[in-house]
Amino acid sequence: MTLSFVDAPSPNFDARTAPPEILVLHYTGMRTGSEALDRLRDPQAKVSSHYMVEEDGRIFRLVPEERRAWHAGVSYWKGQRNINGVSIGVEIVNPGHEFGYRPFPDAQIEAVIALCADIRSRWTIDDGHIVGHSDVAPARKDDPGELFPWKRLAEHGHGLWVDAPAAPGEPLKRGDDGVGVFAMQAAFTRLGYDLPPDGKFDEATEQVVTAFQRHWRQGRVDGIADGATRAQLIALLRLAG
Ligand SMILES: [Zn+2]
Repeated sequence: MTLSFVDAPSPNFDARTAPPEILVLHYTGMRTGSEALDRLRDPQAKVSSHYMVEEDGRIFRLVPEERRAWHAGVSYWKGQRNINGVSIGVEIVNPGHEFGYRPFPDAQIEAVIALCADIRSRWTIDDGHIVGHSDVAPARKDDPGELFPWKRLAEHGHGLWVDAPAAPGEPLKRGDDGVGVFAMQAAFTRLGYDLPPDGKFDEATEQVVTAFQRHWRQGRVDGIADGATRAQLIALLRLAG
């Protein structure tokens, strides 16, 4: 697929702190793509992304990759805090959970896959560093959400994926505590989430389990870590290295 871009410069950027090593995918969460594009270019809004991908597959280029776009806000992944400075942000048009969340059309996902390949041809971005906004800000964000086809992306070489193994074990849930919770939190931290282990399944733990499920366990987004969810987490760590 040959990539073509529509230039739509945004004034909302500044200097990077380091070269990009994380790719953050978002949904726009607004009624239309043109509404989202206006906002991402509005100096008052103070938000932006490097790219926006429309439902028909058109790719808008808003901020040069060498500059810092303002897409992730307060965020964390694998030891990096406030990751705008070290990431590339891609907004994917979808009304989102607030305005009528719907499947991402094929043409749009094909464009996202081609854009991932294009971006990664210029920068060193590991598969374990391709994440959703909800992964880097699980207390605040739901995007790109449980309809985003992460598995299909991974089949094209972008991002980590394993299917949930059938695994026995009591579900861990809000209010539980102990070494099982501690081990799970340590595994989430190792994968990249901001969840210092303390052995208590609290609200922050539930938010991370939910974010993990939106990305890797899309058939079960309930914040309850059953045996299969925990086994899948461990299996992903083996891939992440
Ligand atoms: Zn977002």
